[in-house]
Amino acid sequence: MTLENIEVDDRHIIWLDIDNTLYSASSRISQAMGKRIHAYFVDLGWSDEEASELHHKYYTQYGLALRGLVKHHDVDPLDFDRKCDGSLPLEEMIKPDPKLRKLLEEIDTSKARIWALTNAYQTHANRVLTILGIRDLIEGLIFCDYSDPAFSCKPEPAFFYNAMRLAKISDPSRCLFVDDSRTNVEAAKSLGWGRCVHFCEHGLEVVEGGKRKQLHSEGTETPTGVKIITNLEELRDLWSEFFKGDTP
Ligand SMILES: [Mg+2]
Repeated sequence: MTLENIEVDDRHIIWLDIDNTLYSASSRISQAMGKRIHAYFVDLGWSDEEASELHHKYYTQYGLALRGLVKHHDVDPLDFDRKCDGSLPLEEMIKPDPKLRKLLEEIDTSKARIWALTNAYQTHANRVLTILGIRDLIEGLIFCDYSDPAFSCKPEPAFFYNAMRLAKISDPSRCLFVDDSRTNVEAAKSLGWGRCVHFCEHGLEVVEGGKRKQLHSEGTETPTGVKIITNLEELRDLWSEFFKGDTP
C-alpha cells in the first residue's frame, strides 16, 4: 500500500446540508435570516428597494448574498455573520430532534461516514447541530470559511472538491448528499457525486435571497435522476444499504 492510499478513507460519505434540511422550513429560520440580511444591506446605505434587489441578485449569482458583499463591497464576512446568523434566537426556533438522532444513529458508520456540508459559517453550523442534539454524530463539518476572503460556497465546484479533499475521499461516486437546494444537489451530481437527494418540503414557504418562495416538487425524481424526498425518513429506503440491519 502506498502512502497515498493510507491517507484516503474510501468508505462512502453521507453529506448533510444543515439549514432547512436537518430542521424543517416551518421553523421560519430562513425568514428571520432574510430579515437580518436585508437590514445589513440597508445599514450599508442602500434603500429598501435597492437592498432587496442586490440581496436577490447576489444570492442568485453566487449562491450566497455574502459572497457578493465581500466581492464587490469589501464587507467583513465575520461582521456579517455576527449580525445575521449570530443574532438568530435559534434556541427558541428549533429543539432537540430525537427522531433525526435515531435516523443518524442507525447509519452503519463502517460503511458510510457522516459529514455536514453547509454554506453557513462554523459558528452557526455547530450551534444548529448542537441544539438538534446530533453534533456528536457528525464526523466532520465543511463550512464556508468566512475568515478567508476568497472563500468558496455551494454550488461552486471548488467547494465540493475541497470538501472531498478535507474528508479524504477520492471517489465522487461514493458521495451521498442531501440538500434542500435543487441547485446544490444538481451541481454535486454534475461533478459525479453518486447519490444526490433533493429534500423538498412541498407546500411550505421559505425565504431565499430575500424573497418568499413556496416549496414545490413534482414526482420522485428530477430529469437528471436526483431523487426528491419530502421527509428525511425516506433516506432509509433510498440509501438502505448504509443503514444497520440491512444486509446487502
Ligand atoms: Mg439548506
